[in-house]
Amino acid sequence: MNDGAAGAQAIARCGKRVLIQHPDTGDSPDMPRATLKAVPLDRLATRLAEIAGQPCGPAREIRMEIRLELKIASLEGASMSNEERLGELSPYNCPHCDGVLWEIRDGLPTRFHCHTGHAYTIEPLSAVQEEALDHDLFDLLRAHKGRTALLRQMAERSSAHDVSKKLYLERAKLVEEDAQHLEEIIKSRRAFA
Ligand SMILES: [Zn+2]
Repeated sequence: MNDGAAGAQAIARCGKRVLIQHPDTGDSPDMPRATLKAVPLDRLATRLAEIAGQPCGPAREIRMEIRLELKIASLEGASMSNEERLGELSPYNCPHCDGVLWEIRDGLPTRFHCHTGHAYTIEPLSAVQEEALDHDLFDLLRAHKGRTALLRQMAERSSAHDVSKKLYLERAKLVEEDAQHLEEIIKSRRAFA
């Protein structure tokens, strides 16, 4: 995924080498392809031959922004001070935990992090957000259908002279109309997808 490409780019910015599997030989070609776009790479075999047997050299200082990003990813975000925040608060919520997402723009692919460690680049965030919206719409549709059925059952149980019978049926009709609107929204989203 693109967050892997951002990670590879971060490694390259620390002066380290990045090696990837050829996209045509792996089960997940999108990952190495995204890295190829993010980091200028040499051919793997050539690089392996060059570095085989070479000492890895002294440890280099990890850039501050990368250290902070790792801190978030390792679930230490809640203890971070405001000065340590990586980016700006985004208007988006994490599709997994509903926490706020911080937007990081630093020359690498734009990333979004929540405090609990979920991380996305913009395309995966869009895909997960879309999936969550579908899920919520189906939840709403199911709730409306259940509500309609229960109101009708309550109306059936009421005697013909009971004033509430009419109210139950009117309410059921309104909820059913809302359910139909939701079905139209779901259908139009499918046509758009
Ligand atoms: Zn999250």
